[in-house]
This record gives sequence, C-alpha cells and structure tokens, in this order.
Amino acid sequence: MSNQTLLNRSLQSVWHPCTQMRHHENFPLIPIQRGEGVWLVDADGKRYLDAVSSWWVNLFGHNNPRIKEAIKLQLDTLEHVMLAGFTHEPVVNLSEKLAKLTGLGHAFYASDGASATEIALKMSFHYWRNTGKLLKTKFISLKNSYHGETLGALGVTDVAIFKDTYAPLLMQSAQMPSPDFRLSAEGETAEDFALRCAHELELYVNEHHAQLAAFIIEPLVQCAAGMAMYHPTYLRRAREICTQYDVHLIADEIAVGFGRTGTMFATEQAKVTPDFICLSKGITGGYLPLSAVLTTDKVYQAFYDDSTLKGFLHSHSYTGNPLACSAALATLAIFESDLVLEKNKQTAAYLSNKAQAFNTLPIAHMRQQGMILAFDVQTNHTKFASACYAAALNQGLLLRPIGNTVYFMPPYTITESEVDFMIDATLGALKQVL
Ligand SMILES: *Cc1c(COP(=O)(O)O)cnc(C)c1O
Repeated sequence: MSNQTLLNRSLQSVWHPCTQMRHHENFPLIPIQRGEGVWLVDADGKRYLDAVSSWWVNLFGHNNPRIKEAIKLQLDTLEHVMLAGFTHEPVVNLSEKLAKLTGLGHAFYASDGASATEIALKMSFHYWRNTGKLLKTKFISLKNSYHGETLGALGVTDVAIFKDTYAPLLMQSAQMPSPDFRLSAEGETAEDFALRCAHELELYVNEHHAQLAAFIIEPLVQCAAGMAMYHPTYLRRAREICTQYDVHLIADEIAVGFGRTGTMFATEQAKVTPDFICLSKGITGGYLPLSAVLTTDKVYQAFYDDSTLKGFLHSHSYTGNPLACSAALATLAIFESDLVLEKNKQTAAYLSNKAQAFNTLPIAHMRQQGMILAFDVQTNHTKFASACYAAALNQGLLLRPIGNTVYFMPPYTITESEVDFMIDATLGALKQVL
C-alpha cells in the first residue's frame, strides 16, 4: 500500500492526540514501520533518531530484545486475568520490586499516567475521610504543573492550553509558586530561590491545612512546562511542611521516574519519601501501557476494615495486566544487570559536553538533570516549536520543542556517535529556523 493511502486513511479514521487535525492539511503524518534502538524507520526507509523517547516512555531503545522476549514468554502462559479476586506471579513480583525501590508499598495499578494521578488524589481524599477528617478535600500543586488530562488530573494541572477550555468542568485547586530556577531573581542561587518558594508554600499550607488533602508535585523537573528544573531543597522543605501540617505529599514521578534525572527516582535526590508515588511512562521501557501508585502502610491501614465502603473501590479493566507487568520486570532487570544508572552518568556527561555547541546560538538557561537536557531559544519566531520540529524531521531527528524550549530526553541506550548526530541535526535545524 502506498504511503499516501495510509496517511489518508489515518486522517479519515484516527483522531490523533494533542493535535488540531486540520494542521495535517499542510503537515504530513509520518508512517512509522519499525523501530530499532534509538531509531524510528518510516515506510520509505527514512530514519529518525527518537530524541524524545516517543513521548518520554522509551528507556532502552525500540525493538529491545530482552523486553520483547519477556513479553513473548508471558504471552505463552497468561495474557490477562482480572485482578479483583485473582492474582498472578508477574504482578506480585513487580509489586515487591517496586516496593523495594520506592520504600512504599501496596501497589495499585492502572494503564496510564493520568489514571495514576486520579488514583493518588482519590486515595488521599478517601484516607482523610476514613480517618474522620471530612474537611480535607482540597489539593494544591505547583504553577505550570502537569499531572495528566482526565478531569481530576486536569484539575491539578496548570498548563493553560490544556486546561482553560475545560475550566467549567474542573475541581478547583490552588497553585503554589514554582521553584523553576528560570524565575529566580538576579543573583539568587537555585537553592535560595527554592527556599523562598517553599516559604510561600508554608504560608499557604499554614493557613489552609485543615482543608488540604494533598500537595501533588513533579519532583525536580516540570517536564511538560518545558523542562523547568529546580533545586532538590524545595522537595525536602515540601516534605517537612506536609508532615508538619498533616497534608499528603504526592510525588508524580510519571515522567522523571526510572532514572531520567540520574537517580532511580527524583525524590531520592532530596532524600524524601512521599506519601504516594505515581509511576508510568518508562515503567515498561515504553512497551505497554501501565501505571502504578504506591503508598505507605499508614494509608493502607486506614482502608483495611470490615466495611466495604472503607475500601478503595476503584478499578480499571486491565489493572495489573500480566504482559505489561512482565515488560516492567524485564525493564527493572536491565537496570540491575547493566548498571544503567552508572552508565547513564557517562552518557549524561558526554551529552552535556557536546551541548556546549549550542552556546554559539542565541540561547539561554542551558540546564540538565541526568538524562534530560534543555535550553531556551531566544527568537521572535511565532511558530518556533512547529518550525523546529519540521526542520529536525528533515534532518532525520524527532525533536519536539515545547514553546521556545528545545530538549533532549533520549533512550538510555543512545551511543556517543548517536549523541553527535542528535546535536548536529539539532544545530542544523536551528540554523534553518533562526
Ligand atoms: C505524561 C505525564 C502524565 C500523564 O500520563 P499519561 O500516561 O499521558 O496519562 C502525568 N504526569 C506527568 C508528570 C507526566 O509527564
């Protein structure tokens, strides 16, 4: 079948995500036929380096033999069984492993990040209800936060283009000043700015804690806001404030978990254990949809009762899917056997070094947290992001700037020569656009 036919059929039958479909009148879809390591290959054999890990999900490359093999093995024994009333080895093994890694437990599963956010919010609210704190019904988050786009998650998200249209449908939540270092005053250190923002948080929590169920936060990097990064001191203070005022801390590690920031989980860099952790995206290495929320024994115990209604009566059809769990187990096995976090330090240093080349261009705020590197392009181009995206594709690179922020979040398996290609192709694209 010709590409053109496939593209037309896709536009007729598929409503693509996060897209004004009419823009595809001028801008073609790309028909991907196969993946191979950091590369995506289209129907004409053209290769694109996947510098954004296919929306931040892929960790160890496309067509990874070990993850693929684990799914195939699982497929021969059990593809799925409902998790209410039943259990299976992959979900138990994964839950034990995640508990060991996070210091939390009682893993509750869903299939995407937004559902994990919903679960954490509902669990927090329900915990306070079960413990007689009926007034604690409100949530707070950071300015420019992103926690997913279902109605509950959108209620704590603060990205105008995703949120404003649906405002009449959303629960109200308050947004605390973001410790995004780009917003600091001249001469202020990242840590001082983090402390100043934490002080604002404390003032708010001090006044409203009787109504507050939880503070939900993206640890260290607010990815969807344009890779806004901040000092770990903010997390440490946030933990102390939440503990002091009896408010839950929900760590949304959906994007930053599984090594993206250099540690397995970003909260580790502040030596903080949240009350809830939300995981998804990289959890299966980018193979299958899966998310999980883990929490404390204390929260779990507040639901453990003779009364059915005190239980957490939430479910998704594919909760704990064995294929997805086996992909996640294979992903965690790679972390262990290949000393991934150690190896990533070298890759991150190499990337940092190579990215100095961008300093010859009009850019600001070069920043990096582990395997995420970003900078802001100074331009008056009104459609910089889409122009840069198109120019990068021409160079054989999948890059998806957010506003004027160009970022790299490649699969961890990227080689040095592939980093070279990624940087050179980005330089080429930027020179074309600027
Ligand atoms: C992507 C993301 C989500 C939502 O996950 P989906 O699987 O897209 O629903 C939530 N929080 C953060 C921080 C994310 O990056």
